[in-house]
Amino acid sequence: MVTWNDSDERLGSAPVAAQVAAVQARIAAAAQRAGRDPREVCLIAVSKTHPVARVQQVVAAGVGHCGENRVQEAEAKITALSGQAHAPQWHLIGHLQRNKARRAATLFDYIHSLDSVALAHALNHARAEQPDMPPLPVLLQVNVSGEASKSGFALTGGIAAPQLPDFRAAVAAIRMLPHLAVQGLMTIAPYSPDPEQARPIFRQVRLLREHLCEAFPQLAWAQLSMGMSDDFEVAITEGATMVRVGRAIFGERG
Ligand SMILES: *Cc1c(COP(=O)(O)O)cnc(C)c1O
Repeated sequence: MVTWNDSDERLGSAPVAAQVAAVQARIAAAAQRAGRDPREVCLIAVSKTHPVARVQQVVAAGVGHCGENRVQEAEAKITALSGQAHAPQWHLIGHLQRNKARRAATLFDYIHSLDSVALAHALNHARAEQPDMPPLPVLLQVNVSGEASKSGFALTGGIAAPQLPDFRAAVAAIRMLPHLAVQGLMTIAPYSPDPEQARPIFRQVRLLREHLCEAFPQLAWAQLSMGMSDDFEVAITEGATMVRVGRAIFGERG
């Protein structure tokens, strides 16, 4: 029997499930256009500003990865969803202040926003205090566009960047930290109404990854976290393995 509550629930969750399915179909189509296996691309639902109930609907719709920008906002959601049958993995995608590194190092399954050697030391130190936890998976955030408003290691122009030696020195230092596991690179393309404008940015990050694979073969450079609601298809055709999608799933943020 359908009660009012059941139908309310269904009215509330159906649109989100449909949005998830639509995004997954677009991911698969973009991967196929690029001759890639769609299973190489992990969808991260960016749930910042959205309440736990909405996140639960997205998880129920089959999304196993969620992204948040802020440690404190994430903590409430992570706590609420932990212990449930299908608790998602949590990705920190926003800039992390060093004084929140300790909390972040135990809350999140991935940190996408590692952007300094000092922050790496703080995360390594915090994770070292958790002997039961494996090394923390991290991505190095890079700013190849030169946009001043973006955080990340400055690498304007990618492998042609004048800052490349500094970045390589930073990677060499981070590589020595035993409680971090470098998995790849993350970037945010400048906003543009035309997603094709992001393609050269994503391509520079892909080429940077190739450079790092040769320079630091001891590290895993498998992951490229790039692409958001407006440009994830372009990112996938340029090699993204993780796309961070908020508005295309949840709708506009309030
Ligand atoms: C908010 C955010 C996203 C998601 O953006 P949408 O445009 O809503 O898809 C992805 N990555 C980062 C770093 C973000 O801050």
